[in-house]
Amino acid sequence: MTESIKNLYERILAYNGEHDNAIAILRDEPMYRHTTFKIGGPAALFLTPDSTDSMTALCTMLKETGAKHFFLGNGSNVLFDDGGFDGAVISLAGLNSVSADGNMIRAEAGASVASVCKAAREASLTGLEFAFGIPGTVGGAVYMNAGAYGGETAFVLTESTYLDLDTLTVCTIPLTEHSFGYRESVYKHTKRLILSAEFTLTEGKREEIAALMADYMNRRVTKQPLEYPSAGSVFKRYPGRYTGQMIDESGLKGYTIGGAQVSEKHAGFIINKGGATAKDVLDLIAYIKKVILENYGCELECEVIHVK
Ligand SMILES: Cc1cc2nc3c(=O)[nH]c(=O)nc-3n(C[C@H](O)[C@H](O)[C@H](O)COP(=O)(O)OP(=O)(O)OC[C@H]3O[C@@H](n4cnc5c(N)ncnc54)[C@H](O)[C@@H]3O)c2cc1C
Repeated sequence: MTESIKNLYERILAYNGEHDNAIAILRDEPMYRHTTFKIGGPAALFLTPDSTDSMTALCTMLKETGAKHFFLGNGSNVLFDDGGFDGAVISLAGLNSVSADGNMIRAEAGASVASVCKAAREASLTGLEFAFGIPGTVGGAVYMNAGAYGGETAFVLTESTYLDLDTLTVCTIPLTEHSFGYRESVYKHTKRLILSAEFTLTEGKREEIAALMADYMNRRVTKQPLEYPSAGSVFKRYPGRYTGQMIDESGLKGYTIGGAQVSEKHAGFIINKGGATAKDVLDLIAYIKKVILENYGCELECEVIHVK
């Protein structure tokens, strides 16, 4: 443990003593347990605050100790290093409420996208169908501007609330201040923790919403290798090209390094066939990039975030 992490740990113990263990602590917690890739060495501390208050208190401690940290949603777009993370991984899992009011849905950042989609379906609200099946949290979806089947988080979000990690103040910004783009948002470039988001939807017919969600889920099950651990599409879309098609045409489907393999079912996915290391995945990514550059002159950009 580094000095700053030790310092943070002691401060959390003291806080927990006065607040009924409001921040759950795991030490040397393997990150393969918390990522959809099922890859990653131990995080020195794995912390789960149970409310916005304890999350805010923790962020104050992070600022004061200068401890290295990483905020984790559902871990569906990250690759943790084999050597682990010599800092604190902070899980948003404790902030997971979802509520519907009229045609709006408000959700805390750690709520699953699935739970927000289900709330929309229950309230007969249309607009979020595209997101059904994205295995992330609301915070991860806003951060990444997650999208599928022609839809994007940016199309339905009206505002988000965040904690500024420098000033420790809570702010709410409207859609126009999110700088949303393809897998882009203001949050990728600022020190802010997303606390919650508000989505504005349109009244629809419950059966039609349910049918469209089922259709999208069915397409995922048919076309994506959901039977294996992965982090979804590894690369960003290349303008004017289909990345998966370039990888497929290059004969890379099934190409394997260690336990990491280019999916036979969907060339855009790298799957963990069993026992894959982060190094296997990174080596495979480097190889794919090299081949695609040679064959098409296209420089692929990774969508998955490598954390070390
Ligand atoms: C099988 C599969 C299918 C997928 N399909 C799609 C798809 O169709 N479309 C798509 O866009 N993506 C897809 N993904 C990728 C992934 O699910 C999305 O990028 C998702 O939005 C990530 O959310 P998460 O909660 O898992 O974020 P994480 O992977 O935990 O984190 C991603 C980034 O967001 C940051 N972050 C998370 N929460 C917060 C917060 N509260 N405040 C600040 N930063 C935060 C993290 O620090 C990290 O940098 C897929 C992944 C898998 C495994």
